[in-house]
Amino acid sequence: MTYSKDQLQALVDEAVTMGRQCHDGANADYIPFLAGVPSELCGLSIVWCDGTLIHSGDCDYGFALESISKVCSMALAMEQKGAEMVREKIGAEPTGLPFNSVMALTTHQDKPLTPLVNAGAMATVSFLDAADKESRWRMILKFQQQMMSERVTLSDEVNQSEQDTNFHNRAIAWLLYAAGNCFCDPMEACEVYTRQCSTLVTCDDLATLGATLANNGTNPITGKQVIQSENITPILAEMTMEGLYEFSGDWAFLVGLPGKSGVGGGLVSVVPGKMAIAGFSPPLDEVGNSVRAMRMIRHVANQLNLNVYSPH
Ligand code: GLU
Repeated sequence: MTYSKDQLQALVDEAVTMGRQCHDGANADYIPFLAGVPSELCGLSIVWCDGTLIHSGDCDYGFALESISKVCSMALAMEQKGAEMVREKIGAEPTGLPFNSVMALTTHQDKPLTPLVNAGAMATVSFLDAADKESRWRMILKFQQQMMSERVTLSDEVNQSEQDTNFHNRAIAWLLYAAGNCFCDPMEACEVYTRQCSTLVTCDDLATLGATLANNGTNPITGKQVIQSENITPILAEMTMEGLYEFSGDWAFLVGLPGKSGVGGGLVSVVPGKMAIAGFSPPLDEVGNSVRAMRMIRHVANQLNLNVYSPH
């Protein structure tokens, strides 16, 4: 069934109204900046592979990318080293444990298992070919901009708030290093990882990130190829397995779309070959997923029958 633009706009508006009616969850507060973001913010954006954008709600509010940055750095590492090398050095398994779990590391000989948890993301950052810290950071920021838009920038305020409190991540970086699974200075890896989490993006930008994956690696807004076609399926597979923390299996079961969320309240889901749907709202459930973003995306995906496992 095909839908008119007006019907799609009505659906997206309806989803945001539904989202706003939900008052469950709470802002992340282990990063002081995130605790202060207005909880009522709520937006939903869809970008199609032809560049069409339909959105509703707070879609131009800049929020912290956080864990979703892991998708960009994983993609960049695959571009530089090949997907198979990323699987070999970092992994392609869900941990089934929280994103900053030390136990997930210690029970697997300090191997991170996936680039989509903190340990794996720092290992991924360290794995990139870079001469020094600033060039490592610049290539990551540039890649985020290429997957989204030139407007994506580092927030000094978010970054300071995270760098001042990231003691747990620093400990993880040293554990990785001790086991030979951090490929640059561990404090450099941790600092650059923390910066990559601290860029500000809008819900429209996040939908563009997903649409770049849906569109076989070409950003549908800029028309530029950012990721090689061969890396798209492994990226989406990693997102399916680990994209929504310990709810990833449930999300596959209920919605059937690869996705990635961050503790800033963003969540993007990819419909390969078609579009991406991004939701944003700060209150999170107990594992770290935006409660409203999940509701909104689930509603749209069900209405449009987008489940990738559906034979219809
Ligand atoms: N910067 C956050 C951290 O390292 C990101 C966590 C997330 O969004 O899952 O804890």
